Amino acid sequence: MCCDEIRQQLEDFAAGRLPMALRCEMAEHLRNCAACRRALSEHDAVSSVLCRIQTSVPAGFTSRVLRRAHQRVALVPVATTRWPARLGLNSLPMGSAAAAVLAVGVTLGLLMGSDVIGVGGAAAPEGEPDPAAAYGMDSLGEAPDGSLAQSYLTVVEAAEKDPEP
Ligand SMILES: [Zn+2]
Repeated sequence: MCCDEIRQQLEDFAAGRLPMALRCEMAEHLRNCAACRRALSEHDAVSSVLCRIQTSVPAGFTSRVLRRAHQRVALVPVATTRWPARLGLNSLPMGSAAAAVLAVGVTLGLLMGSDVIGVGGAAAPEGEPDPAAAYGMDSLGEAPDGSLAQSYLTVVEAAEKDPEP
């Protein structure tokens, strides 16, 4: 691989998103190429700045939200996917850092825009602890199954049970 190819994949490399063979190839290159190592450390610096901006977001939160959202979008019927699809979450060609920032922004936007949330559908099952109540987000209880708001709540709940270091 040449340096240009390495640079294009640094973000995915740092995020652990590359297949093993490619990771090994890049690691080998990085061992021998000081310039690319420097580029990687600059990338890490940018990531840590983004993390500091999102002070209240736990580590790995954004990627879990995105993963859950994509899973839900793949599983739910067309009717409930229309507004996440309208937001273009699946189609925008973005770097993951930009995508992460967008996801947080979209999530916050959804939290405030109750008109998009209240489109009907299943409420949280009875008898289970309501994660919305704990966060003072009762309005999210009406979010349709498969919505990004529901994904957010699921992730928040999971983060409480299984905090990442
Ligand atoms: Zn290089």
